[in-house]
Amino acid sequence: PVPGSDLHGILDFWSEAAPDAEALAEGDRRWTWSGLEDRVARLAAALAGDGMRPGHHFATLDKNAAATVEATFAAARDGHAHVIVNWRLSPREIEYVLADAQARILFVGAEFLPQVEQIRDRLPHLAKIVVVGGDADEYEDYLASAAPVPRSHRPEPDDCVLLLYTSGTTGFPKGAMLTHRSLGAHCVAAAEALGFSHDSVNMVAMPLFHVGGISWALISLWVRARTLIVRDVVPAAVLEQIQRQKVTHAFFVPTVYEYFLATPELDRANLSSLRCLGYGGSSMPLSLMRRCLERFTSDFYQVYGMTEASGVFSVLGPEAHRDPDRIHLLTSAGRPLSGVQVRVASPVTGEEVPRGRSGEFWIRSEQVMAGYWDKPEATAESFRDGWFRTGDAGFVDDDGFLFVRDRLKDMIISGGENIYPAEVERVIAEHPSVAEACVIGVPDPTYVEAVKAVVTVAPDAVVDAAELIAFCRERLAAYKCPKSVEVVQELPRTVTGKVLKRELRKAYSNNPDIS
Ligand code: ATP
Ligand code: MG
Repeated sequence: PVPGSDLHGILDFWSEAAPDAEALAEGDRRWTWSGLEDRVARLAAALAGDGMRPGHHFATLDKNAAATVEATFAAARDGHAHVIVNWRLSPREIEYVLADAQARILFVGAEFLPQVEQIRDRLPHLAKIVVVGGDADEYEDYLASAAPVPRSHRPEPDDCVLLLYTSGTTGFPKGAMLTHRSLGAHCVAAAEALGFSHDSVNMVAMPLFHVGGISWALISLWVRARTLIVRDVVPAAVLEQIQRQKVTHAFFVPTVYEYFLATPELDRANLSSLRCLGYGGSSMPLSLMRRCLERFTSDFYQVYGMTEASGVFSVLGPEAHRDPDRIHLLTSAGRPLSGVQVRVASPVTGEEVPRGRSGEFWIRSEQVMAGYWDKPEATAESFRDGWFRTGDAGFVDDDGFLFVRDRLKDMIISGGENIYPAEVERVIAEHPSVAEACVIGVPDPTYVEAVKAVVTVAPDAVVDAAELIAFCRERLAAYKCPKSVEVVQELPRTVTGKVLKRELRKAYSNNPDIS
């Protein structure tokens, strides 16, 4: 039985149907469904006591914690929107998000209080700060001081529950308004595609401020599975928890899989409880995928999604991962979830392009956000006739598999040819001397933009620019090959491991010399 399209309704429902079953865990602490319901009711009452009304926004700034999940349910209960702020941001960036979202109350992890104190005076909307954890755990007192009252507000399906900011890979983060409807549609479709059921144990190790964290947690809560919140991703400790808690489902971004493969404990770990290892958020290098398939016996699922789609909207299931005849599908992002329509459109005319040809992915689904908060222009630009323009370029093959080529904004136009950097990056990454590769366009007097590779070097190796370019020439059309190669110690990344290409473009735009 799936409870309606009201996110908080699932808490009412499961606390009634299975009050003593375990809902949530963080470290050694456990929450039953009725315990969670009681805490959320208290939190909602405390928020109401502080003047929060339907349509108001409040925020959390903390590492992963069960309190963040409680806050999302409290928002869902009374028609508020919960803003989960990226704790890796600088004080200035945190200020931007809190001001943009007009958050009135902030729950802040004790360790982040100093950052907030620096900016508090510049946040006129912020009326109250509640410290979570640490010596002065105000949060527990906040809950204890409130008497829960029965729910009076009935939220509408299109009320915003989560105001979740995009990763800011291509520009300033934008607040995506995720609703009861969009989050519920995501939970139903993703649970089905990823094989979640009552007896699943879901590990939430990705940051909750990112859609891959909070919406991954909501899937298992929706189906009444156990949900484990991991505060810090320490590979050895995560492996230990998977064994102790018999974790069945987990999601990590590609860089975290790299950490696991470098962890000595992996050899001794018994990970036989794992049934679904999800990866995604960006494309996974093939060589890394191959090493993962050798070392983990679990099924792998690639997920393709975005903040604006409330999470995942396309999944590549296990069948494509271990079948030698379908290995070419590893570069695909799978097929759309049920309830998601995908159309490949010309980014210029908006018309559908013939099957197999590249264009921009447009999606239509209940999963899609209501719009960007306080950004009517960006919202209007992103929607066409009920379709959401993802900004990703790619094509769909004859069997309906999606192939993400790259972001449209990252596409390089060199000498009139369209080049998808991701394709060039995949080739360069196959070179034994290269650890990681990033390809960007830099200003060029002849080609307008010229292809440039920025690489990090594999341990004990040396990269020879001319040799690397020759390597590409054997494998790629000449116009796609880098004209220059830059070796760096480290690539700038977002917290979820995506390379910040705009920073590299900025760094090299004044320096188009061939190196
Ligand atoms: P911003 O929108 O602020 O520039 P962002 O797009 O990185 O940031 P997210 O919503 O976190 O913010 O990321 C969604 C994007 O991540 C997608 O549009 C796509 O480009 C990329 N992505 C996600 N999953 C995959 C995948 N499986 N394969 C390739 N790319 C992926
Ligand atoms: Mg985006």
